[in-house]
Amino acid sequence: MLRKAKIFARLRGKPSDSKCKKRFWRHFSPVTIVMAASALTILLLSVLGWGIWKSYLDHKWAEEHSFPIQSLRSQIVLFDEILTMSASMAAATGDRQWQNRYSKYEPQLKTAIKSLDVLVKKTLDSDAAMKTGEANDKLVEMEDEIFELVGQKRLDDARSIVASENYQKQKELFWNSMKQIAEELQEYINTNLENDRKRAFIALESVLLGLPLLTIIWLWTLIKMQHYLKERDRAEQELKVNEERFHSLINNIPGVIYRCELSYPWAVEHISETIFEISGYHAEDLMEGRVQGIGTLIVDEDIEHVKCLVAKATELHQPFELKYRIRHSDGSIRWVHEKGQTIFNAKGKPAWLDGAIEDITERKNAEEEIVDLAKFPSENPNPVLRISGDGMLLYANNTCESILQKWGCRKGEFVGNEWCGIVSEALDTGDEKIVVRELAGRVLSFAVAPVIDAGYANLYCRDITERKHAEEEIVDLAKFPSENPNPVLRISGNGILLYANNACESILQEWGCRKGEFVGNEWCGIVSETLDTGDEKIVVRELAGRVLSFAVAPVIDAGYANLYCRDITEQKEALQSLNLLNNAVIQSSNCIIIAEHIKASENPIIYVNPAFERVTGYTLAEVLGKDSRFMHGNDNDQAGIKEIRQALKERHGCKTVIRNYRKDGIMFWNEINLSPVFDDQNNLTHYIGVSQDITEQKLAEDERERLLNTIQVKKENLQSIVYVASHDLRSPLVNIEGFSNELSQTCMELKGILNDSSINNNIKQKLLMLLDEDITESIKFITAGASKMAMLLNGLLQVSRIGTTELEIKPLDMDKIMDDIHQATEFQIKKADVELILDDIPDCLGDEALTNQLFSNILGNALKYLDPKRQGRIHISGRSDNGKSVYCIEDNGIGIDSANQKRIFEIFQRVDPNDKAGGEGLGLNIVTRILDRLDGKIRVESEPGKGSKFFIALPLAKQYV
Ligand code: ADP
Repeated sequence: MLRKAKIFARLRGKPSDSKCKKRFWRHFSPVTIVMAASALTILLLSVLGWGIWKSYLDHKWAEEHSFPIQSLRSQIVLFDEILTMSASMAAATGDRQWQNRYSKYEPQLKTAIKSLDVLVKKTLDSDAAMKTGEANDKLVEMEDEIFELVGQKRLDDARSIVASENYQKQKELFWNSMKQIAEELQEYINTNLENDRKRAFIALESVLLGLPLLTIIWLWTLIKMQHYLKERDRAEQELKVNEERFHSLINNIPGVIYRCELSYPWAVEHISETIFEISGYHAEDLMEGRVQGIGTLIVDEDIEHVKCLVAKATELHQPFELKYRIRHSDGSIRWVHEKGQTIFNAKGKPAWLDGAIEDITERKNAEEEIVDLAKFPSENPNPVLRISGDGMLLYANNTCESILQKWGCRKGEFVGNEWCGIVSEALDTGDEKIVVRELAGRVLSFAVAPVIDAGYANLYCRDITERKHAEEEIVDLAKFPSENPNPVLRISGNGILLYANNACESILQEWGCRKGEFVGNEWCGIVSETLDTGDEKIVVRELAGRVLSFAVAPVIDAGYANLYCRDITEQKEALQSLNLLNNAVIQSSNCIIIAEHIKASENPIIYVNPAFERVTGYTLAEVLGKDSRFMHGNDNDQAGIKEIRQALKERHGCKTVIRNYRKDGIMFWNEINLSPVFDDQNNLTHYIGVSQDITEQKLAEDERERLLNTIQVKKENLQSIVYVASHDLRSPLVNIEGFSNELSQTCMELKGILNDSSINNNIKQKLLMLLDEDITESIKFITAGASKMAMLLNGLLQVSRIGTTELEIKPLDMDKIMDDIHQATEFQIKKADVELILDDIPDCLGDEALTNQLFSNILGNALKYLDPKRQGRIHISGRSDNGKSVYCIEDNGIGIDSANQKRIFEIFQRVDPNDKAGGEGLGLNIVTRILDRLDGKIRVESEPGKGSKFFIALPLAKQYV
């Protein structure tokens, strides 16, 4: 965004902010700077001018007043001297000619005094001259008297007037006034001179101070002006370049940019050359008025609509967006999309229309195609929706699932403010609209087609992700091909390689061509195809073991295509392995859930695989965003659930089994393997749950458990029956044995009585025969039967005792047990002359008494069933194997045929019941029962005539584990 803003600023020739900050002076316009400098100069000159003017005025004053006053004063002094002298001389000499002289000058003196009076009053505001005049008048009076006395020859009287006090006083008054005038004048001149000096000083100081300052200011102004002019030149230059760039940009962007007049037919001020592609008219035709305006291109049916919308937008100060048809110079009709706005001048009055026109004929056709498809929306492979003017979702076909999921609404629900606004706007304007939105990583284009009469709009959606990416990629790659680290090529329509940057070396080697040469049929074909269609294309090829993606961008006007290449081997491989993993997840028979980790109690599902959908009956769309807790139903009190909660809390994985509930409410046993996923910074981001429906296994286990319990109960019952029966049957048996003995005793006594009696010999013989044979034989049978029964009962008791004996399981020193058994059977061993080999054998876990009994039985049998034809040999060995101690007692006795090898472990079963060895057929059965209790096993390998091997496995003692 920032980058964009900078580029935009550069395009417009606007300096960046930092530059502005540095150049503080830029805040002042050159006019301001010059005005400030000029003002300072004027101020300084004014001060100087004022000084000079004042001096000039003083000088003029002196010329007009001071000098005449001085001159008049001199004249008055002179005339007064002449008059006084004339009067004095007349009085002294009596000569009348002095009077003539007096008369000549006296009027002149008067006139001079009058003039002086006027001047002095005016300039010095003084009455000194007036006083002079008065004194003079009195003097003249006295002098006239002197001349009269002289005329009468009374010279003494005349002289006395001259010498009179009054005359002298008037003379003094006269001179004093004259002196006063001289002094006042001098004071006035002095004051003026002082002022003059001050002014001169101020002017001089101002000049001294102001001149350097002014010089600096003007120098600074000149420098800045020079800088400003340079900047202006640069800006003009830049503006020119930008303008050129702007024009080239305008002419190169795939649309028409225009500026036109406000009213129909919208005469054009400027329009980009691309108008030719749309209308068949050149930009000049419109700009020079050969085509009167854009309006004349619009088909008649659409003009009113366009006029109306433009006027409305101007009135509302809003931009407008239009779709209308224009007639191409070749007579064909083109659909265009126009976006524009009214430009207002500084006074807020509408001045121009600026805008951009785009040819949307193809898109319109495509939309019409979509509209066609929309007739069967349910069959449409693309999402189709219908939304009412008030934002209700009226219809959505099957492919809309993921869109609705994102919007969070279903049919009959409100689609949200944004889409409600879009639809109602489309219904207001009646225009179709293309809205592009990103949804779940895909770029979708929605063609919003309003159906005004019905009050709803149909939305036809297409996935344009790939197209968008291709466009972006091309824009990105198109910058600075020579500096591009990725290969950039330019191929002409006839397959000639026009340009290739440095990064193309290996590609050109593979292609076997260089600049200016033919690139081969394949690439020639691809380039010419893109030039024909005008569409950009992405071509992926393998070259020298690498996978390269070529974005082919046709430049139709220039007749060539630019190819922007990128190595996508890693991406491809990553994609392949990703696909593999993805397929594995999809194909897996285990349910896989991926949940995003927000916090321990919030882990919304973001993915479930098809196996999950199969097992639970929920679809991906139904579970997205939910926590997998929802599958517990109300059955929350489970140990497994607690285990999972704990694991989530402690951020680790766990494996457990819990009861979950399918969508149809049926419970199933779920074996869950929960694993946390951490990112690079070790933040827990996701949980992956791999689970398995183990209901059948669990049911089988439960059944097994139940059966084992039943068997155990029955076994215990049986054991107690056997025990009770064998125990209780012993007392009647003892009775039978006792009474049989008594009966045989009685028979003996009876026989004695008979022998001594005198009973008929015949009868005697018969009775004796009965007593000796039948009764004695019967008693023998009864006794034998009772013994047999006693023996059986003993056996049964022994067997049942094994089931009830209390066990003390502990590690057993088997070598010692074998030594004990050896000692106990030493007599028999010696008697049978048997070679007994005892290996060191591993220890085991078991009950000492029962283990001793078990091995005694086996060793006893080995001794019992030796073959008398050969030297007996018994070998006892042992090893630890797979957590068990396995012992082997091997003999070279008579052996057991395979048919009997299983039977011999059953109770009272013997291979040959009548053999010389004798026995009850109990030993091996007791062995199996002991092994049952000790968690052991027995098996036999045997061959008649060769010998037998009895293998016994018992739990290994701990130290061997
Ligand atoms: P008994 O020895 O009291 O007959 P057993 O249960 O100990 O009862 O043995 C059952 C039968 O297995 C024996 O009668 C015998 O036929 C056969 N048998 C047992 N051990 C051996 C052996 N080591 N060699 C040959 N036969 C054996």
